[in-house]
Amino acid sequence: MKRIVFLTGAGMSVESGFKTFRGNDGLWEDYPVEQIATHEGWLANPTLVNNFYNRLRKKLYAAEPNEGHLLIKELEKDYDVTVITQNVDNLHEKAGTEKIIHLHGELTKVCSSKDPDDHRYIVELPADHCEVEPGQLAGDGSLLRPFIVFFGEAVPMIEPAAELVAQADMLVIIGTSLVVYPAAGLVQYTRPGTPIYLIDPDDTPTRASGRLTHIKKGASEGMKEFIKLL
Ligand code: NAD
Repeated sequence: MKRIVFLTGAGMSVESGFKTFRGNDGLWEDYPVEQIATHEGWLANPTLVNNFYNRLRKKLYAAEPNEGHLLIKELEKDYDVTVITQNVDNLHEKAGTEKIIHLHGELTKVCSSKDPDDHRYIVELPADHCEVEPGQLAGDGSLLRPFIVFFGEAVPMIEPAAELVAQADMLVIIGTSLVVYPAAGLVQYTRPGTPIYLIDPDDTPTRASGRLTHIKKGASEGMKEFIKLL
């Protein structure tokens, strides 16, 4: 079976009601990125950060995958599909995709603020109890924080992601401005000659432009067009 690797970003979930990052002057869902997505922001005001992700988590539990997510799932019938996502939502999971790597964490989960990658303290919050209370502690006694990779923190999943990209027969990039590293660098791991498709309604800077087919559409319409090309 041919291996298709999808690399998805915020644009993948726009049609499910989530905003992108960069289109909004450094705001994410109306908040300055420095406040809610950096380590300094967390240290300055953990309650504000937890409240932000509490709200987003509630919104996520009410959201549905869009046709783009569902079409990716459907390709599993004929292809070996892996999704590498920069998104923290769980809409690829809700669509049923089996192999998913989250580069930047998962909104449904919370973790220790002393060591966010200590798996003993990573907990998934159920939909009916999905808020972190101010001062709530993780199993190791540190403040409970969202399981989100903040800017400036390590991205432990980048190595398995790079290996998958290196094995891909095709790479499909959907809805990412490819400016956030190290994720943006993944494109460079494709083998020479591997076809690369980009589904994004806007022009996106990428250094792989020589062998890139740009489908200039949103995620759902773009996926339909990509499937026609297969
Ligand atoms: P970005 O905001 O930098 O870029 C979004 C891209 O999506 C843009 O190129 C835009 O043209 C495109 N886009 C807009 N509407 C689209 C549509 N309907 N279909 C397809 N593409 C569309 O996002 P990024 O590159 O993913 O980087 C932002 C970071 O912020 C991510 O790493 C992620 O961790 C985080 N983030 C996550 C979510 C989420 O989980 N849903 C949402 C916003 C931001």
